[in-house]
Amino acid sequence: MDSALVAYTLLFFFGSTVGSFFNVLIWRIPREESIVLPSSYCPSCKTPIKPFYNIPLLGYLLTRGKCAHCKAPISLIYPGIELFTALCALLIGHHIFSTVKISSILTIAPVLVQFFWLLLMIPMSIIDIKHYIIPDQFTIPFILTGLALSFIPSDISPVNSLLGIAAGGGTLFLIGLLGSWILKKEAMGGGDVKLMAAFGALFGWQGALLSIMLAACLGSLSGIGMMFLKKTTIDQKIPFGPFLAGGIWISVLFGEQIITWYIRLLHV
Ligand SMILES: [Zn+2]
Repeated sequence: MDSALVAYTLLFFFGSTVGSFFNVLIWRIPREESIVLPSSYCPSCKTPIKPFYNIPLLGYLLTRGKCAHCKAPISLIYPGIELFTALCALLIGHHIFSTVKISSILTIAPVLVQFFWLLLMIPMSIIDIKHYIIPDQFTIPFILTGLALSFIPSDISPVNSLLGIAAGGGTLFLIGLLGSWILKKEAMGGGDVKLMAAFGALFGWQGALLSIMLAACLGSLSGIGMMFLKKTTIDQKIPFGPFLAGGIWISVLFGEQIITWYIRLLHV
């Protein structure tokens, strides 16, 4: 069989398994439950789910969307997140592994962490939408890991990683200060600041600044759209995490094209 087809099939199954783990994170992190133990259980009757029915995507089909014990319906959101994560793993995996030069076994480490952290933007966004928080688990360990991994010779040097933390976290912190002063209320959560510091540590300062600009554009567009549809008012609390996630993904996937296009625009 074609080796590329095998690689993409493995990536899809890996993504759906990661998505299954994300379902656990989305449910348990805001409730401050352990993310490792106990194993998955039915939210209705608390019966542990048999490993066989826990297989991503397939488990939902085998149980026909019902708990095998109490027959309570299982939300389509669970297989939805598994499928979405699998598709994102294909898209991001294809991009990262086809553009990044992996020169030695050691340089695989930062690439794998970048890949996993980009996927983590899925549960981060859902938790921010539901609970208005970006838990530290998605940010602080990755600020430290990003900085540590930058000492492995690759595209991101330790200086770039440090500048990334300052540019990502610092810019959002200043925007937040300015926003609070204008709006007379907290405009930017600490979680947003730490999120962009983590992105800067892992991907460097250029991407961090581009992501923030893109997130601001996405946020303004949707804000205008929502006000136009009268779905929101200026006072309503809007989670910024999903817009940052959007900016982060666009800047990683299309950053080079955007910068080339922008430079050409300035020369004309
Ligand atoms: Zn049940």
